Amino acid sequence: MDIDKLLELDAKHVWHPYGPMPGTVEPLVVESASGVRLTLADGGELIDGMSSWWAAIHGYRHPVLDAALADQASRMSHVMFGGLTHQPAIALASTLVDLTPDGLEHVFLCDSGSVSVEVAIKMCLQYWRSLGRGGKRKLLTWRGGYHGDTFHPMSVCDPDGGMHALWRGVLPEQVFVPPPPSGFDSPLDESYVAALTDAIEQHADELAAVIVEPVVQGAGGMRFHNPGYLNALREATEANDVLLIFDEIATGFGRTGELFAAEHAGLTPDVLCVGKALTGGYMTMAATLCVPRVAEGISRGELPVLAHGPTFMGNPLASAVANASIGLLVESDWRSDLARLATELRRGLAPAADLSALVDVRVLGGIGVVQLDHAVDMAEATRVAVEHGVWLRPFRDMIYAMPPYIATEADLAAITRAMVAVAASA
Ligand SMILES: *Cc1c(COP(=O)(O)O)cnc(C)c1O
Repeated sequence: MDIDKLLELDAKHVWHPYGPMPGTVEPLVVESASGVRLTLADGGELIDGMSSWWAAIHGYRHPVLDAALADQASRMSHVMFGGLTHQPAIALASTLVDLTPDGLEHVFLCDSGSVSVEVAIKMCLQYWRSLGRGGKRKLLTWRGGYHGDTFHPMSVCDPDGGMHALWRGVLPEQVFVPPPPSGFDSPLDESYVAALTDAIEQHADELAAVIVEPVVQGAGGMRFHNPGYLNALREATEANDVLLIFDEIATGFGRTGELFAAEHAGLTPDVLCVGKALTGGYMTMAATLCVPRVAEGISRGELPVLAHGPTFMGNPLASAVANASIGLLVESDWRSDLARLATELRRGLAPAADLSALVDVRVLGGIGVVQLDHAVDMAEATRVAVEHGVWLRPFRDMIYAMPPYIATEADLAAITRAMVAVAASA
């Protein structure tokens, strides 16, 4: 089929993320991908600045991941997880327990990030129900967050970005506090901490849990905060009988410079969600981990089980690739990879300082953000980036990148050049 025919059918039938139907912006057709490069159907090549939405940390078509996938496919691609189990899923759960902060002992494997947040919320609500405190069923979060697109996760996304006005009466109403003050290195704002603690205290009777993205708020606005706010959350939740959920679907597996962002604060949440980079970007899989207290509480209830069980739970192909991807990561010198990404992103984005429309340039680990004082036209921004041989997907007032960890200095120079060019033309 030629490209025009493909695009015609795409526009007519295929719904794309956050898109109208029929489609209005023509997507690029990708034919293959290798390393940090996407090869387009028209023969063009793009350096990927997005790691396919935080996921492809080792780049595309990695021989070790390809081999793990082929090897697992030669044994079994899938078996149901009810009443059956298998080595790839057991190995993955054990590895996740070993790698994540101490105390997270139990693992629920699920099919996507949004589902892992659903499971995290279900765990917390059911925990309090089991303890006879069913009134504790709300969540508290700070504004500016993103936790997925199914309904309960939507209810804790930023109310403006999540279009809560559109969904009034449909979404459960949660408790929102202002976003954490910006800046990973900014000093802790004690009045913010006091207000945060107050809100948790005041709502303690109705709160099942606090849910946040630690250190980096991703799709809600690419904002970084001082990890000290996480310690404040840990203290206030413990003091007030509220559980603490960290959504590390975007930040997990090294992206912020620590293996998990919780480590910047040196603490363990009661529940942890991981996803995105879990399988190195090969297939969809996520996991929800919890501390024994949560599992034990649920097991004492009128319904002593966690009533959740996706059809493709623990999928062996995804588990095998996740095991291989985590193996690659921990055996690599990921700390210096992330340090290289941070250094080169900082160096390459420095020229953005001269832009009159600039609000902020910020870099943390393998994340680089240029924020402007006006919204960027996504289609036009993409066109400019592609002209520079780079794949970027700016949103709202932000041009950002989180490249694969294997990106070289030259790749990073190309990515940042394209980001600055997009910012200059926007
Ligand atoms: C992407 C993301 C999700 C949702 O994951 P999906 O796999 O897209 O459902 C949830 N939380 C955070 C922080 C994310 O970045």
